[in-house]
Amino acid sequence: MQVLPIESDASTKENPSPGRLIVLTGPSGVGKGTLMQEMLKRHPELYYSVSVTTRSPRPGEINGENYYFISRSKFEQLVAQGEFLEWAEFAGNYYGTPREAVLNQIRSGKLVVLEIELEGARQIRASFPSAFSIFILPPSLSELESRIRGRAQDSEEAIARRLCHAQAEIQAAEEFDVQIVNDDLENALKAIEATLFG
Ligand code: ADP
Ligand code: 5GP
Repeated sequence: MQVLPIESDASTKENPSPGRLIVLTGPSGVGKGTLMQEMLKRHPELYYSVSVTTRSPRPGEINGENYYFISRSKFEQLVAQGEFLEWAEFAGNYYGTPREAVLNQIRSGKLVVLEIELEGARQIRASFPSAFSIFILPPSLSELESRIRGRAQDSEEAIARRLCHAQAEIQAAEEFDVQIVNDDLENALKAIEATLFG
């Protein structure tokens, strides 16, 4: 599996640059955050893009580290100013990727990872045809539900919305360059590493 540098893609609509852009998508609760944290520990050269959201912080989440938590009106203002590389509404909240920070990191040669949902991943595919996309699958829907419940940080309503979204998202897994099942964490990490670093 080869990951193409963005500069080699003449059709890239954003500025050409020497870095690479990786999109990591998968249903909420599948373990994307857990996988990313471990990847960052093992590969500090990766740049993880901190997203902006209108969701309330979960217990333990830190502003600027997990997300930038802002109001809906501020988010809408940033959308109007073109500050997002992509953005989407998910389960009643807005989420977006800050444009300049990501473009700067790519320009400086970093391997940049976006952990985003399906609609955002589709927007990135349109604006960065050379971005490499990974879809993380759960071993089963029942395991996904128990992971979301085990996390114990979402309301019943939020859990129901996430599970409903999950089925639609999983159906789109084939749109992605690779699909990796997060059953055993270590195996999933090895599969991601093999994809990114050969
Ligand atoms: P996401 O970021 O995709 O919403 P999280 O990383 O928050 O998901 O993981 C959801 C829950 O699943 C967490 O409690 C996490 O510890 C657990 N989890 C993640 N990966 C695995 C795995 N491979 N096996 C079992 N539990 C896992
Ligand atoms: P959560 O509320 O569970 O942290 O995230 C909900 C969903 O939003 C997850 O699928 C997560 O990957 C996605 N998400 C997080 N940040 C962004 C972003 O900047 N843009 C988009 N489109 N989705 C995001």
